[in-house]
Amino acid sequence: MNDHAMHIVRWNKIIQPRNKGGLGIRTARLQNTALLGKLVWSLLQSKNKLWVSLLEDKYLKEGKLFLDKKAVGSSTWKAITKTLSILEDGFQFKIGDGETNIWFQPWILKQPLCDLIQDISPTDICLKIKDLWNHERCIIESLHTTFPSTITQAIQNLNLCIIPSIEDTWIWNGNLNGEYSTRSGYHWLLSRHEVEISQDTWSWIWKLPVAASVQFFIWQTCHRSIPVKAVLAHKGVNVSSDCPFCHNEDETILHCLFHCSRSVAVWQGCGFPNPNSLCIGVDVDNIDRVIHKM
Ligand SMILES: [Zn+2]
Repeated sequence: MNDHAMHIVRWNKIIQPRNKGGLGIRTARLQNTALLGKLVWSLLQSKNKLWVSLLEDKYLKEGKLFLDKKAVGSSTWKAITKTLSILEDGFQFKIGDGETNIWFQPWILKQPLCDLIQDISPTDICLKIKDLWNHERCIIESLHTTFPSTITQAIQNLNLCIIPSIEDTWIWNGNLNGEYSTRSGYHWLLSRHEVEISQDTWSWIWKLPVAASVQFFIWQTCHRSIPVKAVLAHKGVNVSSDCPFCHNEDETILHCLFHCSRSVAVWQGCGFPNPNSLCIGVDVDNIDRVIHKM
């Protein structure tokens, strides 16, 4: 792509889904991260896979993925650790039987507790999540290790329900069923790039019974991205913004499509009413209303 080309619609808009004002174009970078997310998910879930065991043996201390995010190792391992750091906010630890050691997983805060507490009493090193409660009463303050008040409070505020029949596990917040998929990973990543247009007010364009090129033209119009002279002049192009047909007004999108005497003649020649009657009170920000009325 020519770096000097003019991009009238921002890339962040173009990559949004079509019902949110974009063109639904997938970005290779996000797609690649979403695909790599499958490997991260396998590391969290599929302990019986051979390649997971291999990487765990080679790179992880006792399988503690969130503890060892140093990007040192093979290119695959570097890619996995980088992906984990991008996606980790989307993963959530779900307590089941509470058999997980409390120190090495980010089960309560975003970091493992061993990263947050310097002096851990040796007598507490084997503590499991379920050990922090005794008959539904949190016993954290009676332990030998001193916990910062923020952590104590977070644990005490946890509405914990130990379910002995379900193992502690990771779930993926980007999918209703809690399972990671490339598609859900991609949309989760994309949601972090969303721009101000987020409501579903764009589907109507793609449902119009017209050629795709016309739909695309309407999409450009609604994004105020038709390269009429006023738009070009606004972008710093050295052109006169005068309408080249009537020379009466600036060639804005509204003028070009609806107000110019030549445009009115074209609309009426095609059997449409005079568009100026539809444009009363309309500015370029709600040009879609005029197109709807046509
Ligand atoms: Zn004109």
